[in-house]
Amino acid sequence: MANIIAIPAFKDNYIWAIHSLEGSNLIVVDPGSADPVLEYLHSNNLNLQSILITHHHWDHTGGILALKKHYPHIQVYGPLKEKIDGLTHPLQENQKLSFPSFDMTLTVMDIPGHTLGHIAYFSSNHLFCGDTLFSCGCGKIFEGTPAQMANSLEKIKKLSVNTQIYCGHEYTFSNIAFAQKVEPNNLALKARLNEVLKFQQQKLPTLPVSLESELRTNPFLRCQEKEVIQSVQDYWGISLCSPLDIFAKLREWKNQF
Ligand code: ZN
Ligand code: FE
Repeated sequence: MANIIAIPAFKDNYIWAIHSLEGSNLIVVDPGSADPVLEYLHSNNLNLQSILITHHHWDHTGGILALKKHYPHIQVYGPLKEKIDGLTHPLQENQKLSFPSFDMTLTVMDIPGHTLGHIAYFSSNHLFCGDTLFSCGCGKIFEGTPAQMANSLEKIKKLSVNTQIYCGHEYTFSNIAFAQKVEPNNLALKARLNEVLKFQQQKLPTLPVSLESELRTNPFLRCQEKEVIQSVQDYWGISLCSPLDIFAKLREWKNQF
């Protein structure tokens, strides 16, 4: 599949820009702001073909209407279950979107928790997951329940380990600080921190990241690991039985961190 670039927006959002194979068309994911997208399109002499939206929050949708003013005929895909102005193609789980000139077919996955209608888009080796999974962390549970969020993360865990994950925010560095509290002895996490520090020095995004890396480093995907269970129980001073309770209390701990 084609070249994918991060267009930074606001303080720490990424608008993912997917280039068509021949290079003249662009699809953007979660344009919270139109200006950086328009600037990117103009300076690279590109046409905007489609917009993909993962959930209704303004920092992911705020640019839709302004982009439609400049490109009135674009397709705007997003979750059927959320109210988002400007959508032309409301999507349900398992729907497939085929973009031949991008050599890309994306499948829609429901991943509620951060918001109730949150969706992800995945192909055989790419995942655009908005604010559900972050590198070494996960989204805040604003509308759903811990069970919904845990179930959504379980669905993501079942994708190919080679999947490259494109998250909605650059939170990796601060997420690692928390993850190291949870798993101080996780060597893969130490290695990820070193990698992230190198990216930061070069002012490069820490994303995308592979699912394989996240399975080794992200405590929210590791609620069955001994050290994670022990740390969560120690923090709260209680004993917990189920992986779901561990997940819920881990998320609550992160909210306080
Ligand atoms: Zn959000
Ligand atoms: Fe966001």
